[in-house]
Amino acid sequence: MNCTYCGEGLAAYDPVFVDRERDGERTEEGAFCNYGCLSAWLDETEAATGACCRI
Ligand SMILES: [Zn+2]
Repeated sequence: MNCTYCGEGLAAYDPVFVDRERDGERTEEGAFCNYGCLSAWLDETEAATGACCRI
């Protein structure tokens, strides 16, 4: 498995997995070598836009 953001193999890392519940089913959004890649990916995809739990 490779990092969703940078494509690096995850075997050498302690990867961070992200999944999301959609229509009652867990779907995998991505896997990242670290929180740096996760954060950069969130910035690029704007996956976190509007996802704040505070209303
Ligand atoms: Zn990465």
